[in-house]
Amino acid sequence: MEALKEHTIAFSGLADGAHEFKFHLDPEFYTATGDEDLNGGQVTVDVKLEKSSTLLVADMHLKGTLALHCDRCDGPLDFPIDGKQQQIYRLTGEDEFEDDELVSLDSRAHSINLTHYIYECLRLALPIRHVHPAGQCDPEVEQVLNKLEVDHDPHPDPRWEVLKDLKDKQQ
Ligand SMILES: [Zn+2]
Repeated sequence: MEALKEHTIAFSGLADGAHEFKFHLDPEFYTATGDEDLNGGQVTVDVKLEKSSTLLVADMHLKGTLALHCDRCDGPLDFPIDGKQQQIYRLTGEDEFEDDELVSLDSRAHSINLTHYIYECLRLALPIRHVHPAGQCDPEVEQVLNKLEVDHDPHPDPRWEVLKDLKDKQQ
């Protein structure tokens, strides 16, 4: 996704050692992700950046609430998330080697941007299926869903099928 300038950290002027940054993910961020699951949220990103002469280690901690849609009733759902991710940058600029956790920065680089990694961390902290806690779905939809599940369950529990077979044989 597009890098947002507020997630850029200019490290060249920083002394070696630990530095802390804090971001609030704003509506612009959710729009930039292009992710239709995300309707917004109140999420804070705490970044601890450890700088040495050869490495930059960014520890990100995302915490807050995402505005999603429930996968069951499609109603609005405030979903708590808490995710951590570490990103390491090599400052030597010796080669182009790159993988998920270790990025080589060009020796002339003076800043890093965390937008992509923040989104990655957020996505990893989200379960594939997100639903309201039991009994908290939209009651109208719930009623319809329950009825559908009882009347037209396309995949009945196989154990019931076995019981039904047994019952049929006994008759
Ligand atoms: Zn729901």
